[in-house]
Amino acid sequence: MNTRPNVNELLDEGFAMGGERLVALDLADTEMLVPNPSIDLLEPAGQREKWWALQAGRLPEGPIPDVASTRRIRSAVREVLDAHLAGRRPEATAVEDLNAASSAAPQSVRLDDGELQVRYHVEYGGNAKLAAIARETIELLADAEQLALLRRCANPECSMLFLAEHKRRQWCVGSICGNRTRVARHYEKTRKQS
Ligand SMILES: [Zn+2]
Repeated sequence: MNTRPNVNELLDEGFAMGGERLVALDLADTEMLVPNPSIDLLEPAGQREKWWALQAGRLPEGPIPDVASTRRIRSAVREVLDAHLAGRRPEATAVEDLNAASSAAPQSVRLDDGELQVRYHVEYGGNAKLAAIARETIELLADAEQLALLRRCANPECSMLFLAEHKRRQWCVGSICGNRTRVARHYEKTRKQS
């Protein structure tokens, strides 16, 4: 349990980003918000299945959530994290959606052969994967130390969110956004000089 995908595995499958410490961040990053209209990387259905398969190692077992519920939780995660970055209160509906998804599949812990196991009680009709993602988001928001590491990519053309495990991290993927931005700055500078 808790094996996260490598960012390159996600890039190879057509996603812009991923392999963050929290699945919630990876989920938020499946929507590119700067293009207008935004681009949903979980479309079409084949991509959605691939994404959930890549995340399966660190999520509870159970069916893949339906499109509408996935979108709702993704928007809620995005809203509460964006609100934090903007220093404003999140919309109440986003908080309600996270709380509802978490409590729709309540969790209990048990000791099994010396190991802690989390059980998701899906008999109440919830989806375990979404409950886990909602819980992660709630725990992140309640953890000031972790939350202080939350960043949006420094490339103005990029909406990706991540937790900066070291202070200097500015880019979602340095080899993509970092390079692109450095090249653009260099171009601007040389153009002004000539
Ligand atoms: Zn980026």
